[in-house]
Amino acid sequence: MLPKDIMAAHQEKKTSEERKRKSTQNDTRTSQVQWGRAWEVDWFSLANIIFLLMFAPLIVYYFIMSCDQYQCSLIDPLIDLFTGNKHLSDIWNKTPTLTYRAAGIYTLWVAFQVFLYLFIPDFCHKFLPGYVGGVQEGAVTPAGVVNKYEINGLQAWIITHVLWFANAYYFHWFSPTIIFDNWIPLLWCANVLGYAVSTFAMIKSYFFPTNAKDCKFTGNFFYDYMMGIEFNPRIGKWFDFKLFFNGRPGIVAWTLINLSYAAKQQELYGQVTNSMILVNVLQGIYVLDFFWNEAWYLKTIDICHDHFGWYLGWGDCVWLPYLYTLQGLYLVYHPVQLGTANAIGILMLGLISYYIFRMTNHQKDLFRRTNGNCKIWGKKPEYIECSYMSVDGTKYYSKLMTSGFWGWARHFNYTGDLMGSLAYCLTCGFEHILPYFYIVYMTILLTHRCIRDEHRCFSKYGKDWKRYTAAVPYRLIPGIF
Ligand code: NDP
Repeated sequence: MLPKDIMAAHQEKKTSEERKRKSTQNDTRTSQVQWGRAWEVDWFSLANIIFLLMFAPLIVYYFIMSCDQYQCSLIDPLIDLFTGNKHLSDIWNKTPTLTYRAAGIYTLWVAFQVFLYLFIPDFCHKFLPGYVGGVQEGAVTPAGVVNKYEINGLQAWIITHVLWFANAYYFHWFSPTIIFDNWIPLLWCANVLGYAVSTFAMIKSYFFPTNAKDCKFTGNFFYDYMMGIEFNPRIGKWFDFKLFFNGRPGIVAWTLINLSYAAKQQELYGQVTNSMILVNVLQGIYVLDFFWNEAWYLKTIDICHDHFGWYLGWGDCVWLPYLYTLQGLYLVYHPVQLGTANAIGILMLGLISYYIFRMTNHQKDLFRRTNGNCKIWGKKPEYIECSYMSVDGTKYYSKLMTSGFWGWARHFNYTGDLMGSLAYCLTCGFEHILPYFYIVYMTILLTHRCIRDEHRCFSKYGKDWKRYTAAVPYRLIPGIF
């Protein structure tokens, strides 16, 4: 059975509200509560941010160009440049430019996803047992706001994919290789949207924020642009930037991109390799899991802690669809056919990782949803009681579980995610390093996320967080880290 976040949200809110301490409220109303994103920027964070703003778009370009011009070799372009065999301008001049066709495809794609998001209320929850969709509540923001969301991502994913297969096997409006065939022109379109939405979000936060109390201005332009100012920017009542850009168009596209790669293999070699099937299946499970649990994602860091800036806006439009799909792209250029034992080994690794990832997340969700009144591995969960305050001085209570996978390490869900990422990379064999970028990136992302989250939790829960880290001393790998 999967999470029922609507109950979770109601229960959490009810419990918290019952426990509000009115006396504390007046005393602390005027003091600014510090949990949530930073108010001040240290030099190290600023340096990282400027580095990412400058180099992340180049990294994406370099990877995609390497496949297009150098058969996915990351080294050969450098050798060509250093030996003077080629100049930067040669590489740039060979790069496909923005085309009207790509602009048309991309505009249609995003418009279609906006349409599915805004105008088709969820019907999946009416007939899929265990699925939580429709109107759901998010977590309490630092300003004490509880936002409502229309959860209809699974439906958008299903409709999009039904249309994709209907086209591929019946209507033939366009070739299923369309994404691969326009991959670099589409990159320029994705960048235009990524920068436009991040810039718009920044301007909006100054002139017409959705909730002024949940805005955070550090005064540093680069930090604010990258990490965002507004917490939950919206247009109208329902168009939530974070929910839309986090899931669609990037994650709906993820599986379509992989399908397009598989179609390209079929076109080029007359067959689809088992490695390509594995990538499609394992990443397909991950994507489907994301949409099945979209309501649960309202409680994850991206939605309930991060502000909306370039990091999310550009990241969701460009970084995610281009770099999370590198294995499939690589396999178009290098069609690896794995031996049966290797294929089964990778499949098992992928499935076990998925089990760890899902069960760890499920255990926390169940625990929070039932306020600890549940069984984890057949026993009542153990936990640490903790408290925190919202910006209006209201005191809330919460619990940090120390049982199940959460007793093994403080982020065992990340460990499962990392093992799964490794499985995707292994499908590509060991000839090139490009497909392994994903596991390197995920390791950096999730380790950084551990540190970021723990910093936030410490400022939120204070000494209670210290008690928790003493009870569960490891972050990712029990006994090691
Ligand atoms: P978590 O789901 O681990 O959420 C962290 C939050 O959970 C904390 O801030 C805290 O929030 C609460 N929490 C922490 N410890 C406990 C505990 N012991 N008991 C109860 N609650 C606890 O992190 P994310 O939101 O980052 O990740 C969600 C999933 O998404 C993960 O599985 C991750 O691997 C995946 N992910 C994937 C990415 C990708 O690019 N593929 C990117 C990011 C995430 P509170 O303030 O409520 O106490």
